[in-house]
Order: sequence, then structure tokens, then C-alpha cells
Amino acid sequence: MLLDSYKITRVLPCLADPEKIRVIAEISGEIHEAFPYLNATLKGCIYNHPALTLTIKKDGKLFTLHAHHITLAKIEDEKEAEEILGWLKDLINETYEKRDRIEPNFSKGAELKALDIFKLLPGTNCKRCGEPSCLAFAVKLVGRDIEIRKCDPLFSEKYQEKQKVLVELLQAAGYEAPDVP
Ligand code: SF4
Repeated sequence: MLLDSYKITRVLPCLADPEKIRVIAEISGEIHEAFPYLNATLKGCIYNHPALTLTIKKDGKLFTLHAHHITLAKIEDEKEAEEILGWLKDLINETYEKRDRIEPNFSKGAELKALDIFKLLPGTNCKRCGEPSCLAFAVKLVGRDIEIRKCDPLFSEKYQEKQKVLVELLQAAGYEAPDVP
């Protein structure tokens, strides 16, 4: 069994929806060996093979798998988080057990959308990045025509949580983004 157990270690407010939560769970062992097989069998994943991250989109929620932890976004409550983690545990283990019959897929998969990025920007349209609006910045960022660092306000304490999620999303999709503490 690749994923034996997991434990919720952090519960944070969800950035996209203040009524919901974001959950981080530490996991036993390493699960990244299952990623290319999950990427081959699930639709719409974003896979970053060098960084060992796989983002799964399901029912409007985002689940990002790392080698040692899992992040869940737009979650109702801890009960739902436990249910999703149980589902992911079965999915990871069952897929890995069948790996001999699956052609692994190492491609990046689905691309990030400008709207996914826009939702995680400060949304103030302050123009400090040189763009007329946050949406214009998001369009340039998704096209790799501007760097995330150009949005100074995002790196202030006020937007720390948004910054972490956006950097994680960008890195998972293979974009250059600075590591954040
Ligand atoms: S600097 Fe950031 S917050 Fe200001 S307009 Fe640009 S993207 Fe939006």
C-alpha cells in the first residue's frame, strides 16, 4: 500500500469562498510514484513531474497531491475533508496496484486558466504591476508574459494566504514562481 495513513494538520479559511475551508493533510510515506498513473487515468489533472505535484479538479474543488502532503481547497468542513482524503487514499492505492496495466502519462495535462489566477490576486486593480487591472495581469501571467513578482501587493502580509495558494498552483503547473515560506 503506497498511502497507508494521513492526518489533517492545518485548517485555514478558503480564499475563493469565505464560507469554506482549505485543508492540509500530512501523509505517511511518499505517494509521488502513483502520480503518472493517476495523470493517465483521471481527466483534467495538472502534473508537474520535476516538482512531483499533481493537481486534481473534481466538482469545482482542487486537490493538490505532493510527495508528503495533500492540500484540499473549497471544502465545506472537516467531515467532508476526511471523506475526500479517504477517497483519495483508495484512488491512489488502487491506481498504484494496477500500474502494470496503465501506460504512465508524464505530460503536464490541463493548462492553468487566467480566471484561476485572477481569483487569487488581490483584486484591487491598483496598477502597480503596470497593467490596467488584475484581470489583465492574470491574462499576461498565464501567457508567461509577466512574472508573479510584479504584483507587489500579493507579497505583502495581507495577502499571504492567497500568495501561498497561487504560488503553489503556478509551480504545480510548471510556471516559474518564487518559493514562499
Ligand atoms: S499589482 Fe497586483 S493587485 Fe495591483 S493591479 Fe496588478 S495584479 Fe492587481
